[in-house]
Amino acid sequence: MRPDTPADHIAEAERLLRTADQYPQDQEPLLLQAAAHLELAGERGQASSLYDRLLASENPEHPLLVKAFQAANLWEYGHEAEARALINGIQAAAPTEAAPWAIIAETLENHDELEASHECFSTALTLLLSEGDEEVPYATRSLLSGRHRVRRMLGLPHDEWDKTADRVHADHTPDVTLDELHDPKRLWALGSDNPAELRAEIARLHSELGSYRSALSRPFPVAVLHWPEAELTELLEAYPVLENEYPTHAAHLTDIEASLRDLAATGTENLGIVTATVPSYEAFAASEQSSPANADLLPQYATTLAARGRAAAWPPARGAACWCGSGSAYRDCHGA
Ligand SMILES: [Zn+2]
Ligand SMILES: [Zn+2]
Repeated sequence: MRPDTPADHIAEAERLLRTADQYPQDQEPLLLQAAAHLELAGERGQASSLYDRLLASENPEHPLLVKAFQAANLWEYGHEAEARALINGIQAAAPTEAAPWAIIAETLENHDELEASHECFSTALTLLLSEGDEEVPYATRSLLSGRHRVRRMLGLPHDEWDKTADRVHADHTPDVTLDELHDPKRLWALGSDNPAELRAEIARLHSELGSYRSALSRPFPVAVLHWPEAELTELLEAYPVLENEYPTHAAHLTDIEASLRDLAATGTENLGIVTATVPSYEAFAASEQSSPANADLLPQYATTLAARGRAAAWPPARGAACWCGSGSAYRDCHGA
């Protein structure tokens, strides 16, 4: 379902822009995601215009996040001075959200400004990481991991935050340690004499690092669709063919939890659940000039809801209410 070619990215960006016209109240997350697709298609100028459009709009919800994306994008296509000015502005504004910090720190890192990147990550963690946080939130984990990576490249010894980064990483991705992943020697030792081995190792490193970085620079969750029971009943009465997708409501709920756990186990970060309703699904099908009975629309509908900022983060805290709406704690319900 993830687009790959430049043409796919442009088509997806156009779809998101159409959705933004339909739902002006959700314009910001939709335009940000459209801009991400334009960047991936190499259309950096168009992406830049979308960021400017958001910054010029009445009340941008996350102006510093938009500026951070704009800085990363501008530097990538040769506008270094403008990018630096934006980065300085964001640092001076000291946002209390992780994402703008992570994006500017990574941008500095990508352009080999390791000291400046390190400083940025450290300032952000000083602001955002509280002592004794039981569960480090997803966005803050990216900061811990990024700082750990930059410190290894700078040859600095482990400090307390590095130890926290190692521990948090091990809780979420047990198959490879953060130290192994961020070991600069692994990169330097790539002068192997076996080209096939070398290529395989580089590909492995890329995919590992890529999953961190893409998760970080695209703070949009991979979302799974959840139909509350009454909505599912109504859906299946209107479009019985969808019973192939959803044999029973209980099975649907079990599937949601199982899919999310699978995604998490294979290293997908930033997961979420979006709640479906029949009227909004019908409106979506109409906007795609298709029938709601077409099951191929379901994943696109989920992506669009997530792009509109409608996803609830998964997993919930163990003691919080389960995502299914049963009223029980997650640990006693689908988290059991
Ligand atoms: Zn470490
Ligand atoms: Zn539940």
